[in-house]
Amino acid sequence: MSDMSYAEELLLLTSSLRRHLQRGAQAGARVAGDNRNESKAPPGKSAGPIAGSSVELFSPGAPSLLASNLEELRAAIGDCRRCKLCSGRTHLVFGVGNPRAKLMFVGEGPGRDEDLQGEPFVGRAGQLLTDIITKGIGIRREDVYIANVVKCRPPDNRNPEPDEVASCEPFLKKQIELISPEIIVGLGKFAVQTLLQSKMPITKLRGNWHTYQGIKLMPTFHPAYLLRNPADKKLVWEDIKKVIKEMRREDS
Ligand code: URA
Repeated sequence: MSDMSYAEELLLLTSSLRRHLQRGAQAGARVAGDNRNESKAPPGKSAGPIAGSSVELFSPGAPSLLASNLEELRAAIGDCRRCKLCSGRTHLVFGVGNPRAKLMFVGEGPGRDEDLQGEPFVGRAGQLLTDIITKGIGIRREDVYIANVVKCRPPDNRNPEPDEVASCEPFLKKQIELISPEIIVGLGKFAVQTLLQSKMPITKLRGNWHTYQGIKLMPTFHPAYLLRNPADKKLVWEDIKKVIKEMRREDS
């Protein structure tokens, strides 16, 4: 639940609505330009939560759903108290990387190192992910975007619970909508099953293309799993090679 007062919430909502209407007016006047971060909804169709129903516009999450960039989204999340994970966190780990990244990685939730540093994937598993990005794919970590399903560390690195995911997932959804990557790599069972709303084992999901909100999604094993099962690195490399091939296809 939000700890914002009703008046604060209303103020945020009003200013977001004003920005939205201004953007709508500007979009009408725009002839051409870079529209990577604009809705891809076809003309006449709903453009997602921004063009949402009154239920969406007046729900407690509305200011975040109306954010038009990552800074606004981060500001709308604020000093989040929407779920019980807030009580144990040091930092809320929002996400890191290029806000216009073509490639995005989604993990489960911050661990100890991430909680302390406020950045996703900075511990041992994070180092392995960085190697996958830099040595495997051959791009810089700063060129991709990295985020998690939940933004606060679950105690003792347990899996996030359904109410925690329910509170936090709208922010990931919005992050993805704003970044609008060409490809998402889902890291590990939890992130992939959450994104795909599937109970299928990661062993079956990985290595095959799926879609999330119209974006290509490649599930693979979590780097922390690879630290425990290094023999499966070759399977991840197979998945990553498919990602590289698809990135090249997109670029050509
Ligand atoms: N594991 C995750 O899923 N996310 C992180 O940020 C770190 C470890």
